[in-house]
Amino acid sequence: MTDNLNSPEYDIPPEIQNQIAITTIDKIYNWGRRSSIWPLMFGLACCAIEMICTLASRFDLARFGMEVMRPTPRQADLMIVSGTVTKKMIPQIVRLYNQMPEPKYVLAMGACASGGGPFKEGYNVVSGVDKFIPVDVYVPGCPPTPQALLFGLIKLQEMIDKQSIKNVRWYSKDPIEPIPVPVLGPDLMDPRQYEQIMALSKELPIDKPVDAEAA
Ligand code: SF4
Repeated sequence: MTDNLNSPEYDIPPEIQNQIAITTIDKIYNWGRRSSIWPLMFGLACCAIEMICTLASRFDLARFGMEVMRPTPRQADLMIVSGTVTKKMIPQIVRLYNQMPEPKYVLAMGACASGGGPFKEGYNVVSGVDKFIPVDVYVPGCPPTPQALLFGLIKLQEMIDKQSIKNVRWYSKDPIEPIPVPVLGPDLMDPRQYEQIMALSKELPIDKPVDAEAA
């Protein structure tokens, strides 16, 4: 463990190398976070079965300190979006994301979560969860294997290793605004576009039936 933590410029006598670490705040802070990522426990479709396999004994996510899946967003660091994101489900996903405390990460697992997958542009499917929440790692596949998910999680750890306490967003002075929860009506509506939609609806006489022959 101390091999990874030690800053190379300091010479530590060999007999105490396993007891002492001379390191930086960033390294130890990132090491603590990357070694105890707790994913939020939820799954959306077939990809979730592969995610569940990844937690079982054959692949053993506990090796990465990630086995403590939390059933509440208040205690989770990582949202693994594993499966098809439907328009009915995205308001709940955004709400869960908002309820997760910082620092938090999102991994899009599989073709559906990354871009809509085989259901892309279907009437009820969102073309990728990144249309609504920021995604840190994409894992391709339909479904990705547990090995692929593990690879994605290792990439997330590498990303965490490169972060610095000096410029991470959760220590910035500006407050982090929650993402507006989309509203599901005849289609999804982003509350940030409310004024624009109202202005357009006044221009279009939507209450009058369209004359198909004249059109
Ligand atoms: Fe199912 Fe494939 Fe979509 Fe995963 S990417 S949820 S396996 S259809």
